[in-house]
Amino acid sequence: MLKDIYKQIEKYDNIVIARHIGVDPDALASQLALRDSIRKTFPNKKVLAVGSSSVKFNYFPKLDKTEELENALLIVVDTPDKKRIDISNFGNFKYYVKMDHHPFIEKFADIEYIDDEASSASEIIYRFINSTDLILDEEVAKTLFLGIVSDTNRFLNSSTSNTFAVVTDMLERFNLNLPELYSNIFMRPLSEIRLQGYIAENMNVTENGLASIKITNDTMIKYGVDVGSAGNLVNNFNYIEEVIVWVTVSEDVKNNLIKLNIRSRGPIINHIAEKYNGGGHRFASGARVSSMAEADSLIEELDEVCKNYIEKLGDNGEN
Ligand code: AMP
Repeated sequence: MLKDIYKQIEKYDNIVIARHIGVDPDALASQLALRDSIRKTFPNKKVLAVGSSSVKFNYFPKLDKTEELENALLIVVDTPDKKRIDISNFGNFKYYVKMDHHPFIEKFADIEYIDDEASSASEIIYRFINSTDLILDEEVAKTLFLGIVSDTNRFLNSSTSNTFAVVTDMLERFNLNLPELYSNIFMRPLSEIRLQGYIAENMNVTENGLASIKITNDTMIKYGVDVGSAGNLVNNFNYIEEVIVWVTVSEDVKNNLIKLNIRSRGPIINHIAEKYNGGGHRFASGARVSSMAEADSLIEELDEVCKNYIEKLGDNGEN
């Protein structure tokens, strides 16, 4: 199937690469690296990487402005469903390709390459570029390294032998300055660290191992952080003995909604997130709700999932 995707890239002179709304480093890295590799391989093609940007990620190459291209191929990376594609003119393309590592939700492309065992979309794009005649140079490898390290949270999550093989290949072939790359992704202002302390102090932990924290707009103002940074802190609460699922609930007054970031180190959570205008991976999901009552209901369901999980472990004699 990867060969078929490559043939489509060869065939089309105009190519647009999109990814999901709520931009994150893996989504950005996979689309930008693919764009840059195609441009380097086929300098005469017009290749755009589109979607909203964020100053937080200005260590990546720049995105392009949306343009209407005639007779174009659309490649969507890191996005399982149509409604979450960050693009305004989805209907206007000649041919569609999806390359994703989320569990399947719906078919929206002519060719869909899905590997939900892959750590990240960046890992898939690296393997794709490596298995075709597309150019892989240091700049492309660097971008994809950032995507993989970020989406696996420094190889804590979802990393397989394929992930390490890809990273080993990158390090053997290219001169990657790891401290510099890590500081791009992980450097944070003191305000966030202080909010992390607040979360640690104030999170509610149930007897079933569900931790939750509500971060109100007032709290964000007090600590000087925005809603994206608040939700991102969910990644820093793994490996707490008493906690198997943890969730941050952040008030997003600008968009008049409440954002939930959910992580697990056991129970499967994405099917619950899907019921609340959300989704994601089995152990890393997100949801958007319109009231605290809805957020509470999601939290209750997560607690129930934790309870069932612990009971099952007990039945299997593992607890
Ligand atoms: P986050 O907590 O925002 O880092 O998201 C974790 C995972 O859940 C990512 O794979 C996201 O694409 C996915 N996700 C987050 N929010 C949503 C949502 N509202 N709908 C569907 N998937 C989501």
